[in-house]
Amino acid sequence: MGIEVKEIVSKKILTEAKGYLDVGFTHSLNPYSGCAFSCKYCYVREMPIQKFKEIPWGEWLNIKLNAAENYRKEMVKVRNKQGSLNIFMSSATDPYQPIERKALITRSILEAMIEYPPDLLQIQTRSPLITRDVDLLIKLKEKCKVIVSMTIETDWDEIRKLFAPYSPGIHLRLRALEELRSKGIFTQASISPVLPFTPEFPKVLGNIADTIWIDTLNIGDGAKGKRSDRLGMPQLFEEHGLSKWYREDIHERVAKYFKKFFPCDKIRISKYDAFPT
Ligand code: SF4
Repeated sequence: MGIEVKEIVSKKILTEAKGYLDVGFTHSLNPYSGCAFSCKYCYVREMPIQKFKEIPWGEWLNIKLNAAENYRKEMVKVRNKQGSLNIFMSSATDPYQPIERKALITRSILEAMIEYPPDLLQIQTRSPLITRDVDLLIKLKEKCKVIVSMTIETDWDEIRKLFAPYSPGIHLRLRALEELRSKGIFTQASISPVLPFTPEFPKVLGNIADTIWIDTLNIGDGAKGKRSDRLGMPQLFEEHGLSKWYREDIHERVAKYFKKFFPCDKIRISKYDAFPT
């Protein structure tokens, strides 16, 4: 799949948190717009940033060249205005796009954060490339709370290939999370959205995550499942004989199963218990 890459200068980098992020996060931060991983269930496909574009989701990417510079300026203003800064990076892209290897935008933001730390940074990614920045994460966690939340929707790579064929393999994500935790970084395994998994999944997550976050296509799409419906998710589950996994209470069922293996306070469920601390 080809991808059209543009370098842009953006007006702002911090966006005030609302909707599902308004649960303790004050801002979201997207170092890129667009996303090379192009997951089939991605709710951003149904948001204005993509809805009115002619190029399909996954085939364009904007690199925000001045992201770190904007962060420095905007964080000072936020501090002057309201005091706290709890950042979710990222809500509409993955901060570790393959091109981040050479673009170094996310890395430059982390460097800026070491200089001007927020109160909380949660990095949401599915890319093992994050381990490249472990040196900066170690420095940053001395200055603010840092959570690395790795999306691990399933432990079953065939299922991953069905729903997110261009995303990094599950074993690479697991290994990355393990490495980060071994370096003292607070880690979260984000089963988001829940996809069909094997009974071994809790054991696979074993000791690599400090918390486990469970979210679904119905809650996590920010539109009570309507975006996931429009993306044809119920049909995709059905075509592969997986419909029993597409139900409104799947997060509760999954949480119940995981609680057999993990202490209850380690399991967090979307909607009821949204803010990971
Ligand atoms: S990695 Fe995240 S932003 Fe990118 S396509 Fe997948 S769900 Fe969407």
